[in-house]
Amino acid sequence: MRMVKSSQLYVRRAAASCSVCGAPAVVRISYARLDLCTLHFREFVERKIARILKKTGLSRARRVIVAVSGGKDSAAMLYALASMLKKDNVELIGVHINLGLGEYSEESMKKAHELCHRVGIPCIIVELEKVLGVTVPELAKRARRPTCSVCGLVKRYILNAVAVEADADYVATGHTADDIIAYTLKEFMFQNMDGVSKLAPSTSTVKGLAVGRVRPLYEVTERESLLYSLINGIPFHHSECPYRPRAPIEQRIKEFVNKLEEEHPGIKITYIRRLERNMGMYHSWGRESSYGRCKHCGLASSGVVCGFCRLTEKVTGKPLGEKVRAWIRGVLASLRAEESLMEVRGS
Ligand code: AMP
Ligand code: ZN
Ligand code: ZN
Repeated sequence: MRMVKSSQLYVRRAAASCSVCGAPAVVRISYARLDLCTLHFREFVERKIARILKKTGLSRARRVIVAVSGGKDSAAMLYALASMLKKDNVELIGVHINLGLGEYSEESMKKAHELCHRVGIPCIIVELEKVLGVTVPELAKRARRPTCSVCGLVKRYILNAVAVEADADYVATGHTADDIIAYTLKEFMFQNMDGVSKLAPSTSTVKGLAVGRVRPLYEVTERESLLYSLINGIPFHHSECPYRPRAPIEQRIKEFVNKLEEEHPGIKITYIRRLERNMGMYHSWGRESSYGRCKHCGLASSGVVCGFCRLTEKVTGKPLGEKVRAWIRGVLASLRAEESLMEVRGS
C-alpha cells in the first residue's frame, strides 16, 4: 500500500477498500481498525459529533453562537453543525474576532466570513481595532502581559458578551479531542482540578452572566477534523498564529500523546471517554467557582471587576466592557432588522 503524506496527514491510496462498502478507502483509522471511503469517513466523524450533541442537548437549543476562528477545527465544527442541526431548527450565529495579528488575522477573517456565507448563517465580525481602538499585541505590550494570555482573555470575554446579548443557549467552540487531552493533562500536572472540570463536553449557563460552552469535536481528533475539512472542501486558513510561542507545554504534550497513540492505538479515545465519565468527580474535587457581576460591565467576574475591564482600564484608562456590549447590541439589532426585511421580501 502507498501512503501519501499531506501536512501530517497520512492518506491511504489504492489497495485498501472501505471496511463498510468496499469502495476505495481514503483513510485508515488504526484505533477502530477501519479503512474508510470519503462517505463513510464523513459518517464516522458525524457519529462522534452526534453523540456530543445528544449528550449536551445541543439539538434542543434555540440559539447557538458558533466561534469561528478561520482555522480547520472550528471550520469543520461549523460545517457539521450547520448540516446536522438543520432539521432541529437551531438558530446558528457565527462570530469571528479579528484580534489584529497582522496578515494572519486578515486571512482568518476572510475564511471565517466565506465559511459562514457558504453554510448560510449570519456572521458577526468583531474587529478589535475598530471596536476598542487597540489590537491584542498592543494591549499585551502596554499591559506587560504575554500575548497569548491577553488573546485568550479577550476571546473568552467577547464570545460570552455576544452570547449574553443574543440570549443564546450555548457558545460552541472547535476544541478537538487532542486539545482536551493536552489541556487536561496540563491541568493534572499542576493539580488544578477546577481547570479539569471546566473541560467537560459542555459547561452550564449562569443566566445573564455567562453562557455555557459546548465542544462538539470533543471526540474528534485534529487529524480527523483536517481530513473532514479537506474532503468537504471547507474553506479554512492553513497557517499558525505568528504569536504562538515556539514550544508551549500543550504542544509538547500533544507530540508525546501522538507518539503514544502510534504505539498504543486507541489510547486517546479511551482517555477522552473515561474523562467524560469521570467529570462529576473532578467537579466535586474542584473549587466551587461562584460568579459575581463585574461592577463596570455587569458580566461574570470572580472579583469586583472582570479581567477584561481591568485590562482595558489599565491600558486605555477606561474599562471597555460596556462599550463592547453596546457595540454588540447595535450589530444584533441591525441583523434582526435585516432578517425581518428579508422575511417581508420573501413573503
Ligand atoms: P484556540 O484558543 O485558538 O485554540 O481556539 C479554540 C477555539 O476558540 C476555536 O476552535 C474557535 O472555536 C474559537 N476561536 C479561536 N480564535 C477565534 C477567533 N479569532 N474568533 C472566533 N473564535 C475563535
Ligand atoms: Zn464506504
Ligand atoms: Zn467587566
